[in-house]
Amino acid sequence: MSYEADMLLRLLMPSKKEVQEALLIALFRHNGTIKEFGAGQEIVNEIAADFNLTDEQKEAQLETVYRKENRIKKSSLWHRLLFRAADELARNQLVLRPSETFCLSHQKEWMLTEKGYDLALSLLHIPSETKENLFVRSYEVELAAQNITYKKRPANYVPVEEKRTTITTREISIRSRGFRQAVIQAYDFRCALCGLKINSPDGKIWEAQAAHIVPHSANGKDDILNGMSLCRLHHWAFDTGWFSLENDYSVILSNRWDALPQNFGRMGNMPILHEKSRIILPGDSNAYPHPAALDWHRNNVFTSIF
Ligand SMILES: [Zn+2]
Repeated sequence: MSYEADMLLRLLMPSKKEVQEALLIALFRHNGTIKEFGAGQEIVNEIAADFNLTDEQKEAQLETVYRKENRIKKSSLWHRLLFRAADELARNQLVLRPSETFCLSHQKEWMLTEKGYDLALSLLHIPSETKENLFVRSYEVELAAQNITYKKRPANYVPVEEKRTTITTREISIRSRGFRQAVIQAYDFRCALCGLKINSPDGKIWEAQAAHIVPHSANGKDDILNGMSLCRLHHWAFDTGWFSLENDYSVILSNRWDALPQNFGRMGNMPILHEKSRIILPGDSNAYPHPAALDWHRNNVFTSIF
C-alpha cells in the first residue's frame, strides 16, 4: 500500500467516491460552478464540513522527500483527495476543468456538465424536470446561451424561424434554458419594465422570465434579439397586448387601458402599467431587442385585439 493510501486509511478519510458525490452536490449548491480550489479556499473547508472532518483530518500533510535537492515538500492530504475526485469527475465528463471553462466563461472554474447536473439531482432526490426552472449553469447550457448572443448585431434580422428542424427533448431543454439564461442575465435578472429583481431564498429560481417578443407559437426565435427579461406580471401583460414598445424602447399602452374600470390594473394605489420613455435595457447594446421583433409584436399582438 502506498504511503498516501495508508494515510487515508489510518485517518479514516472519506472514500474517493464519497468525495466525488459531495463535489457534485457542492457544485449544484453553488449554481453549477466553483472556483478552482487552492489551499485555504472556502470551498475546501465547505466540503470538509459536509464530512465533519476533524482538524487532524483537515490538516494532515503528506511529505515528499526530494533527496537530490535535499528538501521535503508538504501537501495537504484532504486537498489532494479533493483534487483527485474532481479529476476523476472530469475524466467521466461529469464536470469540466477550469482550463476548459476559461474560454467559455473567462473564469477559471469547475463547471457541471448536463450529465453531472443529472447525477447531482438524482443524488439529492430532486426530479429532473425541476431543471427547467432552476438557474444552475451547465456547460451545454452555457454554450447554448453564447450561441444566441451577438458580438455584433446583424444588419438584417428576421425574428421568425423559417423552418423548425426536429430536435430532441434534451436539445429543446438545453436551448430553452440557454435562452432564459442569456436573456435574464443580459438584463441583470431584472424586469425591463418595473426593475423588479428577486430570486428564491435558495438563490436558484429567478422571478424574472425570458419573454419571447415574437412568441414560440408564431415560430419566434430563441435568440437574445427576440427576448426581453420581464417579471411574471409584465410578461403576461406583454403577451396579452396590454403594452408594447416603440423602436426607441419607449412603452406604449393599449388604447383600451384608459377605458378600464377604476379598480382594474392596480396594485394598491399604483397602476401596474404606465407610458414610459424607455424600458431598462441591457448593459450591452448588442443585446437590445431588435426593432424587427418589436415591429412584429406591435402589428400582431398589440393592435390585433378583436
Ligand atoms: Zn415587472
